[in-house]
Amino acid sequence: MCRAKIEINPAPCIEGTRSSDREGVLTQPLSAEYKRAGLTRGWINRRRTKAVWLGKVKIGDGAPISVQSMTKTVATDIKATIKQIKELEALGCEIIRVAIPNHKSALALSQIKREIKIPIEADIHFNPELALESIKQGVDGIRLNPGNITDKEAIIEIVKLAHRKHIPIRVGLNSGSVNGWLRSNLRHQLFPRKPVPLSMSHPPLRPDGYRGGIAKDGSGMTKDGKSLAQASLEYVNFLESLKFNDIMISLKSSDVISTIYAYRYVAGLCEYPLHLGVTASGTLDDATIKSSIGIGSLLLEGIGDTIRVSITGPPHDEVRIGYKILQSLGLRRQKVEIISCPTCGRCEIDIIKIVQKLRGILEKESLSPKGNSIKVAVMGCVVNGPGEAMECDIGIAGGKDFGFLFKNGERIRKIPESKIVTELVKEIRALSL
Ligand code: SF4
Repeated sequence: MCRAKIEINPAPCIEGTRSSDREGVLTQPLSAEYKRAGLTRGWINRRRTKAVWLGKVKIGDGAPISVQSMTKTVATDIKATIKQIKELEALGCEIIRVAIPNHKSALALSQIKREIKIPIEADIHFNPELALESIKQGVDGIRLNPGNITDKEAIIEIVKLAHRKHIPIRVGLNSGSVNGWLRSNLRHQLFPRKPVPLSMSHPPLRPDGYRGGIAKDGSGMTKDGKSLAQASLEYVNFLESLKFNDIMISLKSSDVISTIYAYRYVAGLCEYPLHLGVTASGTLDDATIKSSIGIGSLLLEGIGDTIRVSITGPPHDEVRIGYKILQSLGLRRQKVEIISCPTCGRCEIDIIKIVQKLRGILEKESLSPKGNSIKVAVMGCVVNGPGEAMECDIGIAGGKDFGFLFKNGERIRKIPESKIVTELVKEIRALSL
């Protein structure tokens, strides 16, 4: 429930602090799903949220953080859309969003849904009729943009139908369109005297009082972050006034700091699951860096229940990078994790070529949730090689034109450089099946 108006009760939050700092802070206990997946979650305590179900995927309430993406095909090209979703499924994508710009696209949804395994969320802007049609076509969730879906009667109709069909709504804000809500007639009608105050009196997100750079009087919060937080809480208030609370929230800014502030802020004022992302973050390199910092910082604080890495590029990269972010924080596990040294003048084998080949061969299967998870070290020389290789399940420490193979902490045999990749693949497959 959103507490933006009254903000009296302590926010049931978080935190990414060490256990000695955590006393008195309500956090989410390690869920059965996490335990079953063998995840330890390190020292990250996740923010407590209510559970929302997108089809069979549970979001929030301690469920593993899900990775989602968005199709880049036109929905009316049903064949191409299904093909892309199936490819993403094979990479581990758990939720797919499809843009619905017109009625024909909405009508394509039932056929697409029949052919895929993962839940599908319809992405709706401007035209509320498209949300109604998408729900009728059997989608698992709807994303509404408060920046351009502001017709009161239409929202009421969507909420009624979503409620009847048990479909959650994601209140999905972006910095590029948030002003649409802030200037809308509906907003002025709902909050005639003044906007819902974004009170800074809620408890700090961390026991040490740190508010992520946001002072008690609100100064320090970026303009974008404030707008996103404000708009989302107002829209959520409106949905709640209709007795609807099957809600998720996303607050994506193209600015990393604003994204972090907005999510931190809203995380302290409601219990809805949060879908994390930095929007319009650019091509692969830029998007990876911005998302790793934006999404990663929030995850470290226990904030976030599902993620999408937005990339100007193939959606396959969005899934790959999404998993890598989660894996780097111990929040999800890939089947095969490769750690490799950067190489230097001491290296006498071609580490870059070996790792690239290995990654190419194992890319797809390393995302499969089936089988054992294993960690592989590919190291250039004896400086750090044996140490890292012994810490991993399998490892190679390079010598002159050869590598020593390590397995379960022990040195096993010497392999000529030309055979390192094939031997490693064989060993990895044997261990991870
Ligand atoms: S492991 Fe050896 S080759 Fe690799 S970076 Fe370190 S010193 Fe250089």
